[in-house]
Amino acid sequence: MQGSMIAVAKRAAGSGAELVPVPIPAPGPCEVLVKVRATAICGTDVHIFRWDKWAAGRIKPPLIFGHEFSGEVVETGPGVTKLNVGDYVSAESHIPCGSCYVCKNGQKHICADLKILGVDTQGCFAEYAVIPEACAWRNEPSLPLHIAAIQEPLGNAVYTVMEANVPGKRTLIFGDGPAGLFATGVARAAGAGPIWLAGTFNFALAIGKTMGADRTFNVRSPGVDVVRSVLDDTHGTGADVVIEMSGAPKAIAEGFSALRKGGTFVAFGIPSDRITLDLNNDVIFKGATIIGINGRLMFRTWLQMANLLNSGRLDPSPVVTHQIGLREFQKGFDLMTAPERTCGKVVMIP
Ligand SMILES: [Zn+2]
Ligand SMILES: [Zn+2]
Repeated sequence: MQGSMIAVAKRAAGSGAELVPVPIPAPGPCEVLVKVRATAICGTDVHIFRWDKWAAGRIKPPLIFGHEFSGEVVETGPGVTKLNVGDYVSAESHIPCGSCYVCKNGQKHICADLKILGVDTQGCFAEYAVIPEACAWRNEPSLPLHIAAIQEPLGNAVYTVMEANVPGKRTLIFGDGPAGLFATGVARAAGAGPIWLAGTFNFALAIGKTMGADRTFNVRSPGVDVVRSVLDDTHGTGADVVIEMSGAPKAIAEGFSALRKGGTFVAFGIPSDRITLDLNNDVIFKGATIIGINGRLMFRTWLQMANLLNSGRLDPSPVVTHQIGLREFQKGFDLMTAPERTCGKVVMIP
């Protein structure tokens, strides 16, 4: 397709981003060109926008960033066999090599040579984006654009909660960012109970209630003791499952303290540095299981997510608090970085 498009790009190293006109990209072999209908801002995009230590080491400008979106296939490259022009798709952001030892073990989501859309390749904060056919996910036509656009982070929550095997289990979730709020909804849909949610913003914790938390804790409020409360609620035994979506060292420590003997701790939140762990008491003597989560299973997680969404069991819409134009991206990043959070997921419409 000839012509130019607008995109939110990082033109050079440093903080911020610019709205720039660029040529519409052409799909290469086994790739498709998608007209982006909705795109969501992720925590990863905030790291890139702010240009922190991680971004400075990983990102090679010029880069159009963004990796969460929904849209319509408008052109197919040579060798594309399953997708057609007009298909309504979202994308798995993890781009596996398909041939390494890990990929051959059926674990493409953690490929040894993993590339990430909008991090290592040109992303979707634009009117059009190119993705590999192998990463495209065909949506049900009835799925709203803004919901289809948040399936990548929702999938993190689906994968995390499914690995935790929560039905009938007392589940403690840390983190009131979109990941924790989505996990709350998925845990509810999957039959967990009771569900405790610990976070730092009253605005977000109220959404957590809507998503199905039985009890919420604002850990910044005076007198709040998550571990004590969970032990009190469980006759001193603790939570069956702890889902850690915050990456905060204090939350991780409290999670292990609140976990019952023989319980399961699922780690998704990324601490900014190494953390210390009482391996003896928190894991070995406790007989705890720790599960690390990265990405989404390709594509079992997507199938499970589609079933939850299409059956109406899971409604993630309360988490999508804002829809703005792509040209208003600065407003989106302001919302995402405000000291007192008043947003869940921010979706931009090109
Ligand atoms: Zn994301
Ligand atoms: Zn691989």
